[in-house]
Amino acid sequence: MNRHVHVCRRLHPRAAKHSRENCCRGFEGARRIRACSPPQPLINAPREEGGAGEGRTGPARRRTAAAQTHRLCAAPQFHLLEHLGGAGVKPERGSGRLFKISLAMCACLCFALLLALILVSQRSSQQQFCLTPECIEAAGSILSKVDRSVDPCTDFYSFACGGWLKENAIPEDSSSYGIYPWLRQQVDIRIKDLLEAPPAAGELEAVTKAKILYRSCMNESRLEEVDSKPMLRTLRKAEFRWPVVGDGLGGEYQWSESRWSLLNTLAEMRNQHSKSVLIRLYISPDDKNSSHYIIKLDQASLSLPSREDYITNTSSAQANRAALLSLMVDVAVMLGAPKAAAQVQMEKALAFETKLAHMLIPHENRTSENMYNRFSLSRLQRSLPQFDWIGFVKAVVESKDDPDRDVSPSEPVIVRAPLYFRELMKLINTTEPRTIANYVQWRTVFSRITTLSRRFLYRYLDYARVTSGTTSLTPRWDKCVNYVENALGYATGRLFVNSYFQEDKKQMMEELIEGIRWAFIDMLQKENEWMDGPTKKKAVEKAHAVMAKVGYPEFILNDTYLNEDLKELDFSEKDYYGNVMQTLKFFAQADISWLRRSVPRTEWFTNPTTVNAFYSSSTNQIRFPAGELQKPFFWGKEYPRSLSYGAIGVIVGHELTHGFDNNGRKYDKNGNLDQWWSNSSVTAFTDKTQCMIDQYNNYHWEEAGLNVRGKRTLAENIADNGGIREAFRAYRRWVQENRGGVEEPLLPGVDFSNNQLFFLSYAHVRCNSYRPEAAREQIQNGAHSPPKYRVIGAMSNYQEFQKAFACPPSSVMNRGAQSCRVW
Ligand SMILES: [Zn+2]
Repeated sequence: MNRHVHVCRRLHPRAAKHSRENCCRGFEGARRIRACSPPQPLINAPREEGGAGEGRTGPARRRTAAAQTHRLCAAPQFHLLEHLGGAGVKPERGSGRLFKISLAMCACLCFALLLALILVSQRSSQQQFCLTPECIEAAGSILSKVDRSVDPCTDFYSFACGGWLKENAIPEDSSSYGIYPWLRQQVDIRIKDLLEAPPAAGELEAVTKAKILYRSCMNESRLEEVDSKPMLRTLRKAEFRWPVVGDGLGGEYQWSESRWSLLNTLAEMRNQHSKSVLIRLYISPDDKNSSHYIIKLDQASLSLPSREDYITNTSSAQANRAALLSLMVDVAVMLGAPKAAAQVQMEKALAFETKLAHMLIPHENRTSENMYNRFSLSRLQRSLPQFDWIGFVKAVVESKDDPDRDVSPSEPVIVRAPLYFRELMKLINTTEPRTIANYVQWRTVFSRITTLSRRFLYRYLDYARVTSGTTSLTPRWDKCVNYVENALGYATGRLFVNSYFQEDKKQMMEELIEGIRWAFIDMLQKENEWMDGPTKKKAVEKAHAVMAKVGYPEFILNDTYLNEDLKELDFSEKDYYGNVMQTLKFFAQADISWLRRSVPRTEWFTNPTTVNAFYSSSTNQIRFPAGELQKPFFWGKEYPRSLSYGAIGVIVGHELTHGFDNNGRKYDKNGNLDQWWSNSSVTAFTDKTQCMIDQYNNYHWEEAGLNVRGKRTLAENIADNGGIREAFRAYRRWVQENRGGVEEPLLPGVDFSNNQLFFLSYAHVRCNSYRPEAAREQIQNGAHSPPKYRVIGAMSNYQEFQKAFACPPSSVMNRGAQSCRVW
């Protein structure tokens, strides 16, 4: 057994679909791994880093397109008949035997051609429609989503998705809902059945553990019985005392300034709760030396989802702050704090967090170069002497069992937010320790509220009503499935893959991936006029070097690996809280245990049940877990290829293009941050991207009452625009090479050409509606543009779309000369 693999399974168990700082970001830095879709937040659970907490001329245009297709088919027949007619006259003009022979040969040849043509045309008329059950199913799927009352050239998103959106209301426990969350739910239902199944003979120990963990989460009567006791046990520990609660409970809960140490508290929160407050310490590949791990220090998250909630005074920001304060006070009181003291102390704690929010480096300034500040610990200590940095790093990283993890003052660290740390030290020095302690401990309590009994869950729901618009609790089984899946991703993944992943999907994915890689390179070589030759050559090399990962990491099929990986975990059906704490402690070590080892660059650590896809700039990998490889993303070979190329094909293109977006482009084919571009190509790239920034900045999203942020979403928009072009080109080549250019048979009853189906299939995976609260958050924090503009933005830049739907130059979906294109 390869030790790397053994430990890697523990790295990234946080590929948490429901956690904002999902594993990939957590470990590889906020911008180094990109997901193709925003993670869907689990409602009624605080966000946490641990991840284990759980066109109107439509019909007419379509007729035109169909008629054109028909004309194209008929035209050669007409010419051939004409030619044959002519041939009948020609012999009279010539004489001689040779002429007769050649005439006979010509006639034979023509006859053969005619016969071939008749055969082909008969074949194509027979195959004009595909009437297999799969095609009928696909046609139904398309029909149920479209809204033909909308003009596809005015608003293709509403044309493609309107039908589905009208029939699929946002569930009460969700802040948004769409095709991604729908598929997520389908996966959850399957996992539920797998986890609830009685133990099989010879069941894998890791699987048994996952089932116990699930049952402990479902054991609601026990949760009611113990109520707040498990959390109170935590609050008795010296480093985790919460001053405000100590004021009410006294005794062993009493907080004492003289005995309190910020360093110990922060370090133990990181070690025991896998929670970073004020300072985030993690291990991930060194951006400039991607085969080595290095310690990184960064700013940490806030209680409310966005920085704007603290630094602006919009009505929603004010409401969110008020809801947070009220939650802080109530939870403190529920745990034993006196009401009046709780109000005063929590106001101070929130004021502290508001100052913190002002100091956070905004997303726009967090570029890979700005965040790469290499220090030795001793230099960091000299430059920011107010905090014992060496002591803190030692407390988190060192291990009695592993002397290799010893840290000396010469230890290199990457300081990702030096300005923030400078300001933070000033703030700490001017704030009373009790307030800091109240704030820091609040953050741990906040992460665990939804691990407690029903009264805490309902109190949290009142908060979520304001911040995310949800009005009911997530069904218990769903909450528990999500928790187990995040906590024990590989054991759950193994169960899922065994029952629901078809190995032949890998073969079709290879066809798609290779087609899209070809398309990216082909366009780069034939159509790109702004990049100079030497840079282009390196870009081609990087595209060839992109490594694709499909389905699941192989190690999950190895019983010994899986059992060994979880051997330290010993769950009890009666102690859900204790089980959660065990998994958090386990996660805390997941990245730390990698220090001093080399990066297993060909391995991947993504939870197989994840319904998403990724690009990793440090390994130059594109990743497609089993969860994503399902309808309506991935359609098997029995379905028209147009559907797969339009959906999963565009997603493949999207991920590949991330290697060349405004951030990914800075990393070379080996995953190192290194300028491999000529200066002139960088300048030309920046000009091209400015067009896209301006384009998306102009989209006003009604649901949020805000404009899209073109700069913030640039990387994703570059990926969407590139992905569509690559996948369409690859699809047309597939038709050329595999069908001799003959179009695929059409779907019955839908009246769409194959190219139209391609674009519809792309739009369909994006159908999604949002509550206003979630829409605002998507704009403020999202890396992606809202789904509506992911569809409209990319398609209105693309001529092939405009041709497919015959969108006139004056229409919204045809930007004509204003179209933006990077790749
Ligand atoms: Zn993306």
